[in-house]
Amino acid sequence: MGLVETSQRQGTPPPSTDPLTLGEIVGNGLCIGCGLCRSIAGAGHVDMVMTPEGRERPVALQELNKSTLAKINAICPGTRIAGPPPAQMNDAALADTVWGSVERLVLGSAGNPTVRYIGSGGGALTALGQFLLSSGRVKFVLHVAASRSMPMRTERKLSYDAASVLEGAGSRYGPAATLVDFNAILDRGEPFALIAKPCDITAVRNLARLDPRVDEQMRYALAFVCGGASELTKSEQVLQRFGLGEEELALFRYRGHGNPGLNRIETKDGRAFEISYRQLWEDEDKWMIQPRCKICPDAIGQVADIAVSDSWLNGGPAVEDEPLNGIIVRTKRGRELFDAAVEAGAVQIKRESGIAEISELQSHQVRKRRAVWARLKGMEIAGKPVPFVTGLALRECASQNSAAENLAEGRGARDRARRGRLGEPPAVQRETVSKDGQP
Ligand SMILES: Cc1cc2nc3c(=O)[nH]c(=O)nc-3n(C[C@H](O)[C@H](O)[C@H](O)COP(=O)(O)OP(=O)(O)OC[C@H]3O[C@@H](n4cnc5c(N)ncnc54)[C@H](O)[C@@H]3O)c2cc1C
Ligand code: SF4
Ligand code: SF4
Repeated sequence: MGLVETSQRQGTPPPSTDPLTLGEIVGNGLCIGCGLCRSIAGAGHVDMVMTPEGRERPVALQELNKSTLAKINAICPGTRIAGPPPAQMNDAALADTVWGSVERLVLGSAGNPTVRYIGSGGGALTALGQFLLSSGRVKFVLHVAASRSMPMRTERKLSYDAASVLEGAGSRYGPAATLVDFNAILDRGEPFALIAKPCDITAVRNLARLDPRVDEQMRYALAFVCGGASELTKSEQVLQRFGLGEEELALFRYRGHGNPGLNRIETKDGRAFEISYRQLWEDEDKWMIQPRCKICPDAIGQVADIAVSDSWLNGGPAVEDEPLNGIIVRTKRGRELFDAAVEAGAVQIKRESGIAEISELQSHQVRKRRAVWARLKGMEIAGKPVPFVTGLALRECASQNSAAENLAEGRGARDRARRGRLGEPPAVQRETVSKDGQP
């Protein structure tokens, strides 16, 4: 796989030997389970499975030919990660090494009180999704929502109206294969918007280089600022706490209905269980974040038109904070959308913000941006494949760390990679396990 390259150039990956197989992408911890490879190769060639570790992963049903693999390597957000076009950075109202291009940065929320309450933080993404539909800018919104039949699982969702967009409000921390049938979505030939993780948007921006329909039809891409997607086993731990089996569930909500709101579980027989956001995330050793997230060069949505974050002004989430988001408008197109949404009352502004404030509110993102270059170098030194990264100023971010810090990050990653700690076992479908632990 290609080397890490950090210039602003939208370069072509260096001619490499053979493209990585799906097994190699997964085995080296580069897959996030977006599903785009399945969509590209076709359901008859690639299946998505839920592994015993609680990760959604692709499995080739037969050996994929070299041209399919080359295409997968070109679009997969585990092998190819590009920043925004250089012109975006050059023309931006503000360009910051860590935070990328910014047209406007505010604290705000949805204008509608119901959306504000139900939304994950302040409901800004849901409000923007609804406004995209009501203003006629797009025909539908591609995002995700809890599965109706298995509410702890997450499925991709197409929303054609405001009520449907609201159904998908909230953060889904477990696996979410947003792009599992993206090709079929393009076949619809209708203008749409994507609301998703930054890596999902990286994947479709990769595809846009190969398929002109992406830029023609995907009019807007909105992201949330992302600390990492957990494995399903993280959610299963919550069930174990209450002695519940997945088959008993009628609802599994991670947060929302308040900011951050409670992690709420309801069973089909009418029982309800709740834990706070702090209880859900109290033990960092049990976050069960997927390996790809630990080397994520763009968890702050630099390739989105607008990226939306949490904003806890009191230092961290309590049970019931003011519904609020950080809203990073990144492109001119995003600016036009944002201004129109504010004008229409769909989104409201609390006040202007800035790089200093968001760096404080999202200090973990700043630390990660500065660490990723050395982590990738460490993996490379260990002989592992790393994604080909362009236009994300990784080296410049690393230069904000001391040489000793970079060395420690690089050595740590090298040693973990050598011990196989950054990789994953081959993807296989897990057996269904009931609450008594029996298959
Ligand atoms: C895995 C994960 C990690 C996060 N880490 C951080 C962080 O480190 N810092 C931070 O500030 N915020 C983080 N958030 C984002 C935060 O929780 C809010 O989602 C964000 O602030 C937007 O709030 P909102 O009120 O506008 O969202 P809402 O109006 O509730 O809209 C959220 C939208 O995101 C979509 N969505 C939810 N989960 C997923 C998913 N897994 N994949 C694709 N699309 C999804 C929904 O379909 C919905 O359309 C994370 C969210 C997730 C899911
Ligand atoms: S990250 Fe997406 S495209 Fe890459 S291997 Fe995983 S599911 Fe496929
Ligand atoms: S941290 Fe990066 S790779 Fe992980 S889910 Fe978030 S955007 Fe995707």
